[in-house]
Amino acid sequence: MLKLVDLRGGKGKDLVFLRRERSLIPGDVGERAREICRAVREKGDAALFEFIRTFDRWNPPPSGPRLDPSLARVAWEESPEPFRRAVEECYQRVLSYHLRQVPEERWEGHGGIITGELPRPLSRVGVYAPGGRAAYPSSVIMAVAPARAAGVREIALASPPGPDGLPARAVLAVAGFLGLEEIYAMGGAHAVAALAFGTESVRPVEKVVGPGNQWVQAAKREVSGWVGTDALAGPTEVLILADSRAEPRLLAVDLVAQAEHDPEAMAILVTPDEGLVERVVRALEEEVRAAGRRGVVEEALSRGGYAVLVDSLEEGVEAANAFAPEHLELVVEDPDPLLTGVRAAGTVFLGSSSPVAAGDYCAGPNHVLPTAGTARFSSGLRVDDFVVRVNVVRLEPDGLRSLAPAVEAMAATEGLPGHARAIRARLELAPEGLGAGGGSSAGLLPRAPVRASRPYRVRQEGARVKLNTNESPFPLPREILEEVAEEFREFPLHRYPDPLFSRSRAALARFHRWDPEGIWVANGSNECLHHLLLAYGGPGRTILTFEPGYSMYPRLVRGVGGRIVSRPLGRGFTLEPEAAHRAAKEVRPDLVLLSSPNNPTGNSQPRAAVEALLAGGAGMVVVDQAYVEFGGEDLSGLAREDPRVVVVRTFSKAWRLAGVRLGYLLTGAEVTEVLARVALPYHLSSLAQLVVCAALARADLVLSAVALVREERERLRGGLEALGVMVHPSDANFLLVETGLPGREVTRLLEERGVLVRDVSDYPGLERCFRVTVGTREENEIFLEELGRVLAGGLPGGGGVCQG
Ligand code: PMP
Repeated sequence: MLKLVDLRGGKGKDLVFLRRERSLIPGDVGERAREICRAVREKGDAALFEFIRTFDRWNPPPSGPRLDPSLARVAWEESPEPFRRAVEECYQRVLSYHLRQVPEERWEGHGGIITGELPRPLSRVGVYAPGGRAAYPSSVIMAVAPARAAGVREIALASPPGPDGLPARAVLAVAGFLGLEEIYAMGGAHAVAALAFGTESVRPVEKVVGPGNQWVQAAKREVSGWVGTDALAGPTEVLILADSRAEPRLLAVDLVAQAEHDPEAMAILVTPDEGLVERVVRALEEEVRAAGRRGVVEEALSRGGYAVLVDSLEEGVEAANAFAPEHLELVVEDPDPLLTGVRAAGTVFLGSSSPVAAGDYCAGPNHVLPTAGTARFSSGLRVDDFVVRVNVVRLEPDGLRSLAPAVEAMAATEGLPGHARAIRARLELAPEGLGAGGGSSAGLLPRAPVRASRPYRVRQEGARVKLNTNESPFPLPREILEEVAEEFREFPLHRYPDPLFSRSRAALARFHRWDPEGIWVANGSNECLHHLLLAYGGPGRTILTFEPGYSMYPRLVRGVGGRIVSRPLGRGFTLEPEAAHRAAKEVRPDLVLLSSPNNPTGNSQPRAAVEALLAGGAGMVVVDQAYVEFGGEDLSGLAREDPRVVVVRTFSKAWRLAGVRLGYLLTGAEVTEVLARVALPYHLSSLAQLVVCAALARADLVLSAVALVREERERLRGGLEALGVMVHPSDANFLLVETGLPGREVTRLLEERGVLVRDVSDYPGLERCFRVTVGTREENEIFLEELGRVLAGGLPGGGGVCQG
């Protein structure tokens, strides 16, 4: 059933000869398609309608082949439930995979020569979906997902109509699900031409993509250059490289799955194990007999089914590279080392539980892949296919001056004196101060996300009452400081600290009854988050956060080059489990950052929200519990149960040690092992560890202040309510206060009176809020008094106090 090819004993590794002599588009089809395209281009609808009548056997109405989009919506609503669920799942997975491919702006430059690259989505794209036996709704998903991810606004779908004038039901239904508004019932070469050139009834697009028969391929070749097109697709193919441990039946079913696409499909087994070939052939006989599309499978295997013997797996990889298959399966014990050698393949499937069939629908990567050996020089459909990049040049005077000699010399050689003049004229115009005022520094530009952000700044000094950074108002008890001082006298400061911070780890492990290996300590919980993002959240990763949330999250994510997606919290700033689940399903985040209690709102999030994020498919959920000692549920139990949960804690708040800069994570040993790869050597100062270990040894004493803070919090709340302002519920050591006045103004007026609180009015919905840390009783009294004055005074422009 499989033709045997023996490449052993140095008989070369070239499998290209297996590709039969065939041209993708027979000459007569090419000629005819050219005529059709020319006719549509020159005569518009007159030609298009005629071709639709002749080839699609349908009489379009005078308005043209565009369908009422409600037909697609109805088709979707009437589709069977399992199909609808599958389509949703596939689209979400494929979309989130492609969202990660979206390119970012690039800027670079120094010496006054600044250059950049701006990715911009195409505006209008045409997607072709074949009809008949090859009417695959999955192909519509695979074309639309990367276009949408790229930001293409208008997508026109063309698909050949059946006798009822409608495209295949499943294709129409998926168009309905995707919310496509522009659907044309037309197929073949004329459809491609109409999309490319436009007619009276079809608006032209900028690029046409999608599979199709020879006519469609020929037309794409014809219009290419006028518009963009994706690659010409040949018959589908798989090359499976297997070792002797591979299960013959699994190889056989994958060969059949490929063969059932098309009598022209190719299915190739490559292995160094002769015995395996025999076993696979036996299994194949049975599988073919039971195959649903037996006729197609038999024809494909008899024409394009091969078993290839090679000397080694490495030789097998070389054979695969030469063949450059659309799909490559590495069904071997340890595929990773072989993967290193793979140079040409559409998609590689690693290991025995990764069949091509999963990749055809919903693993994530696109199934529109290079065939017929074109994987040597091209890739599968991706976001880049729907994006153009605009180059940008900005020269400052220094930069122009430094380029001048090269430009002038090249211009002289090429006989283009006007080019030299374009430089000279500028330099002569203002020899010493050209463009003065418009230029920035001639130094190295920071990376784009860094350019877009500002340094972290808060007022630290000089105020009478400082209630803006959620510190503890109570210093560490004297006796603990004495103990630290005692130990410090003998402290070996000439040595590096313990790189594994074993002492702090052990002390925390005792305190939390946690596996010491699962504890990670860093300089503040901020650095814990930074380490997590360095390891799990950099370029190509998507991080989900909720707003209003901790302001450092977007800064940290951008700093490491990740992509941040933010969703609003619900009523009362609560993350409802349903909303959490939906967000995780839609965004498919690699990592979620969620604080509970939340800064700046103070409320805690339900455990079920974290569970819903996990159920929705989040890769890792980081639950930031910097304030949990003050209230709300301790969610560290979740991190014990599920390796995808990491809980963040800090010594800065309840432990009264903000100045020490230590925070920690409660997680599993797998995570801490990864974090150790990104942390700098000896990242924790031994002095900081000394203090924290002393505090942990007297945990009860240190944390005794928590009760005081909570008590003061409730007094403060009472005082605020007496002033007639609204105070949001809080489990933290701060309160979110809502007045009738703009938060920024209130913050400023309080500052003028020596009281620092935090302005949070930049958050949508918090325009009239500020955040105040619970201080000592005296501090709180001063704050209340000054706030009373500010509110009584109102703003220069008027405006009063909001009651309630
Ligand atoms: N997470 C949250 C929610 C915070 O509010 C803060 C500090 N305000 C931190 C983490 C970081 O604190 P540190 O780095 O001091 O541990």
